[in-house]
Amino acid sequence: MINKFLKRVFRKSAKVRSSGNAQVIPFELHGVSRDQISYGAQKVTDWLQAAGYQAYVVGGAVRDLLLNRIPKDFDVATDATPEEVRRVFRRSRIIGRRFRLVHVMFGEEVVEASTFRSMIEAEDAQTDEHGRLLRDNQFGDQEQDAARRDFTVNALFYDPATQEIHDYHGGYADMRANMLRMIGDPAVRYREDPVRMLRAVRLSAKLEMRIDAATAAPIARMKDLLDNVPQARLLDEVLKMLLSGHSVECIQQLHKMNLHHGLLPLLDVILEQPLGEKFVMLALRNTDERISQDKPVSPAFLFAALLWHEVLAAWKLHQQQGERPVGAMHAAMDEVLGKQKARLAIPHRHDAVMKEIWLMQLRFEQRAGQRPFRLLEQPRFRAGFDFLLLRCASGEVDDELGLWWDEFQNVSAERRAEMLQPEQAADKKRRRRKLRRKPEATATDEPVA
Ligand code: ATP
Ligand code: MG
Repeated sequence: MINKFLKRVFRKSAKVRSSGNAQVIPFELHGVSRDQISYGAQKVTDWLQAAGYQAYVVGGAVRDLLLNRIPKDFDVATDATPEEVRRVFRRSRIIGRRFRLVHVMFGEEVVEASTFRSMIEAEDAQTDEHGRLLRDNQFGDQEQDAARRDFTVNALFYDPATQEIHDYHGGYADMRANMLRMIGDPAVRYREDPVRMLRAVRLSAKLEMRIDAATAAPIARMKDLLDNVPQARLLDEVLKMLLSGHSVECIQQLHKMNLHHGLLPLLDVILEQPLGEKFVMLALRNTDERISQDKPVSPAFLFAALLWHEVLAAWKLHQQQGERPVGAMHAAMDEVLGKQKARLAIPHRHDAVMKEIWLMQLRFEQRAGQRPFRLLEQPRFRAGFDFLLLRCASGEVDDELGLWWDEFQNVSAERRAEMLQPEQAADKKRRRRKLRRKPEATATDEPVA
C-alpha cells in the first residue's frame, strides 16, 4: 500500500531532464528495469563502463522492452573501438567488413557491441548513382549514432547502470503514440538505403504501429529504388518479414503500398490465382501461428509453399507433353527454382529440402503395398505431411487424403494393414517384371503413371 503510494508520488515527481541534445527519461517514467536486460548485455555494459567507456543497450531491444515484448537479442553501442572492446572481453571476436562489430560470448548468448557511428558527411559519402550509401563505417559519438539510425523508436539508448533512457529524436513520445517515424528527411533516408522502406512495413506490422504520414508518403514514388539493392540483402529482409510472426500483415501491407512487385516476382503471379493465393496465405498464417507457439519454422518449407503452385503448373505442362509424373516433376522443380533464382536469390542450400517436400506430395498418393510404410520412415515426413495438410485446407486436394495419412501414422499395425488400398494389377505386373530382370532389386519407390 505504502509502496504503491510512494511509487505514485515518485512517478509524479519524476521528470525528463535534458542532457545536451538528448532527453533523459528516468526509470520512474519508462519502467524498464535493469533485470529485464539479458545477463550478457548487463555484463558487456558493466565491464565497458568499468573500463572507462560509455556503453548502452540500443535499438530493437530497448524498443521491444518499452512495448512489453521480449527482445530477440540485445545490442550494445559504445564509444570503445572494436579493438578496445576486444581487449575488455577475452571471449569475443571482431566480425563484419562493412561495419566492424564485436561479438561477445557469454555461454549461449552472443551480445553484439558496435562502436558509435556517424553518418558520413555528404562530401565523403560513397554512394552509387542513385544516392545509395555504399560505406558508412565512420566512428562518431552517441548523438551521431542516434542520427544514423532509421526510426525514432529504434534510436533509444538504455543505460543499465542508471536505468535511464537517452532520446535524441523524440522516440519515447513516438513509442507512446504508437508511431513509426523516420529520423531526418524520409526521402533522403530511403535514397541512402531503400531497404528502410521494407523495414517500415515489417516493423509497423510486427509492432502494430502506424507509419507516420511523412514517413509513408515518399514510398510510392521511391519504390523502384529497391531494384538497385543487392539480391542477398533483399532476400534477408524478405525472410525477416516471412519469419516475423506477422507475415500475413506484412504481405497485406506490401500489397497496400504496392511494394510487392518485383520483390517476390513469382508471388505476384501466384497471388492472382485463387487457389494459389489461398494456399500461400494459409502457409503464412500457419507459419505465424507456429512462431507464436515457439515452434521451429524452416525457410525451406516456406519457400516450398510460396513456389508450389508454380511447380504444379509446370508439372502439368510437362505431363501434357507426354512425360511421366516423376520425370515431369523433376523437370518442373528445376525450371521453377532456376527462374526464381535469377531474381530472388534463394540460397541453393534450401533446394534439397524443397525438392524433398515437393516430391513427397506425389508419394502421398501411393497408398498400396510397402510404399506408405517407407514414406513414414522418411526423415522429413513431418514437413511433407504438414505441407499436404495445407494443400487439403486450400482445397487443392481432397481432405480425405490428409485424413487417411493422419490416421495411418497413429494406428496399430493391424489397422494399417486394413487401411492399405489394393495394389493395382498393372503395378504388380511391373514389379514382377522388374524382379525377374534384377533378382536383387526391391520394389521401387516411384509412383506409377
Ligand atoms: P528486429 O526486432 O527485427 O531485430 P531491429 O530494429 O532490432 O528489429 P536490426 O536489424 O536488428 O533491427 O537492427 C538493429 C538496429 O540498427 C535498429 O534498431 C536500428 O537502430 C539500426 N538499423 C538497422 N537497420 C538499419 C537501416 N537500414 N538504417 C538505419 N538504421 C538501421
Ligand atoms: Mg535486432
